[in-house]
Amino acid sequence: MIFGRVLCLFNRHRPQRDKITWDGINYHSDCAHCGKRIYRRQGGGWRAMRVALITAKDPQAQ
Ligand SMILES: [Zn+2]
Repeated sequence: MIFGRVLCLFNRHRPQRDKITWDGINYHSDCAHCGKRIYRRQGGGWRAMRVALITAKDPQAQ
């Protein structure tokens, strides 16, 4: 599994097949190696979700 994690560093992830869902626009899943939320790009390949909008809202900031 070390080889898979190396690919994760280059934002090339592998989906957990039993967690693949369809939201009407993209397929989503969790990476089988690093556990990140990922989505399937058109043309193939799984990339990590952009989560900046979620992490930017920290309820303990104030
Ligand atoms: Zn990964």
